[in-house]
Amino acid sequence: MEYRKLGKSGLQVSALSFGSWLTFGNQISDKVADELMGLAYDAGVNFFDNAEGYAEGKSEIVMGNIIKNQKWERESFVVSSKVFFGTENKGPNRVGLSRKHVIEACNSALKRLQVDYLDLYFCHRPDKSTPIEETVWAMNTLLQQGKILYWGTSEWSASEIMEAIVVAKQYNLIGPTMEQPQYNLFERNKLENEYLHLFKEYGLGTTIWSPLASGILSGKYTNSGVEGTRLGMKGLEWLKDRTLAADRMEKASALQVLANELGIPLAKLSIAWCLKNPNVSTVILGASKTVQLQENLKVLEVLPLLTDKVIEDIENIVGTKPKLADF
Ligand code: NDP
Repeated sequence: MEYRKLGKSGLQVSALSFGSWLTFGNQISDKVADELMGLAYDAGVNFFDNAEGYAEGKSEIVMGNIIKNQKWERESFVVSSKVFFGTENKGPNRVGLSRKHVIEACNSALKRLQVDYLDLYFCHRPDKSTPIEETVWAMNTLLQQGKILYWGTSEWSASEIMEAIVVAKQYNLIGPTMEQPQYNLFERNKLENEYLHLFKEYGLGTTIWSPLASGILSGKYTNSGVEGTRLGMKGLEWLKDRTLAADRMEKASALQVLANELGIPLAKLSIAWCLKNPNVSTVILGASKTVQLQENLKVLEVLPLLTDKVIEDIENIVGTKPKLADF
């Protein structure tokens, strides 16, 4: 396993990490979740991603039980939670980024995960109805209490992150260390354009999500349907429609041909492509089956195959490279 600094912080995260969205406490049994986490940990994965909103809190309960039963030393792993979406009860003060919810959600996540502190704590989305000062102060309070070690954002715009940095500086508080954006061959603008200034000037780290764009970049939907996959799950029709849009299907088929020429699974090519970006601190993998994770965890082996020529071939197929403004 390769380990990368989380931005300019001192923390080292495995280049490949593992997350539980849609799977833990939902799509898969607790036994499979245990096998997957064991596989990841044994391969050197040290970061496990979670959120209060995943399976309405159940995902953290499942992960907490696994961590406890595996008896891993606390120093050997990094675990996260995210606040914003709430758990099963969505009443007032149970969602968003108010001081009350940020602090209560952290205390609840600590109980569900059965740990004394969260290594990473994310604001899962921006909350336009709460002053940014309130959220930054609340995060700083949790840092001072030792309940979290680093805090960050997820799917915030560059200007929202900048505002948090400025507020933190103004009051001598600790600002955001990392952002968790979507990043894959189809979604690139934040990582490759919008955040460039934040990487260069502030050393922002990134824990990127959906490297396979929910599975389509494994190539499997080119030949088979959605049965037995997340896109066949009830309530996720919105995700199915977005993921299997006609232009994405076409590009995935063309990428599959390229992967065949290279003699590697498309999933590995797609994940390796994410790792090539030096502003990616860690790629969060998702998996519902052990064979998937076994395949994905071997991605570092194929990095040398991504030559300039292969990258150019990929660009020609996807056509998603952001156009940078000329200054
Ligand atoms: P991916 O885009 O990589 O999708 C993972 C899914 O793709 C798996 O669950 C599986 O789904 C399928 N898959 C994985 N590997 C293979 C393979 N080798 N061959 C075929 N199919 C494969 O990542 P996720 O969308 O799961 O995101 C990863 C993590 O990122 C999450 O667990 C979460 O921690 C985080 N995240 C954060 C978000 C945020 O807002 N901050 C939002 C979303 C995710 P299937 O069961 O369908 O086969």
